[in-house]
Amino acid sequence: MKSDRELINSEGRRLDGRSPHDLRKIKIEAGVLHRADGSCSLEWGGNKVLVAVYGPREAVPRHVQNPLKAIVQARYNMAAFSVEDRKRPGPDRRSVEISKVISEALEKVVLIEQFPRASIDVNIEVLDAEAGTRCAGLTAAGVALVDAGIPLRDIPVACAAGKIGGRVVLDLGKEEDNYGDADLPIAISPRTGEVLLLQMDGHLTIDEFNEAFDLAMKGCYEVSEIQKKAILQKYQSAAAEVQE
Ligand code: UDP
Repeated sequence: MKSDRELINSEGRRLDGRSPHDLRKIKIEAGVLHRADGSCSLEWGGNKVLVAVYGPREAVPRHVQNPLKAIVQARYNMAAFSVEDRKRPGPDRRSVEISKVISEALEKVVLIEQFPRASIDVNIEVLDAEAGTRCAGLTAAGVALVDAGIPLRDIPVACAAGKIGGRVVLDLGKEEDNYGDADLPIAISPRTGEVLLLQMDGHLTIDEFNEAFDLAMKGCYEVSEIQKKAILQKYQSAAAEVQE
């Protein structure tokens, strides 16, 4: 097990050279799959995530339909080859939990009242995992929903902060997640600041929690800008093709 001193040094440098308030590198591309209604590929540090959105379409089986609104069904799946020790394929407790919290977060921004009896299916495939996959998946889902043309109140975005070596830092990497003191992933609607998801692993004092929450919020706004650029890029190049 790594000691705290190894995760962050006295100058505040982390294992990968980041300072406490730095995000890992993020790359987002919208509309990468041809058969899905909307899609997104996202790289966030060593995480690689692919999201495909289908719908709104009639929810099946019928008993899951809601006559007043659509249901949002996110399915988070980690590929067997995405982690160092091969992961047993198929759903497990962790993936069921992550699918549920992401579905609930997305339902708060989709205009579900417009699509009674329908389902909006969000498939999140984690191809490479290096901590922070639920944030990466939810952020990519936001872009894929826009790409699918699904009416939204806002583009949801997620980011985590945490605590390592007694310091609050942004966006934990793999070692920091494994050997750090706490992880606080959040998702928000950036337009209103509404919190769509908040989970916590580990221990934080109230002051540390407040500091980590503010930092994760700041991270969300940074990631939101990258999401918007990816969406603009897709539609600007589509518009250019039409003009040609
Ligand atoms: N992880 C793993 N095997 C598993 C589940 C997770 O190696 O079966 C790793 C993976 O890199 C993941 C990290 O542990 O990103 C942290 O997992 P956590 O449950 O905290 O969720 P995440 O931070 O990915 O949202």
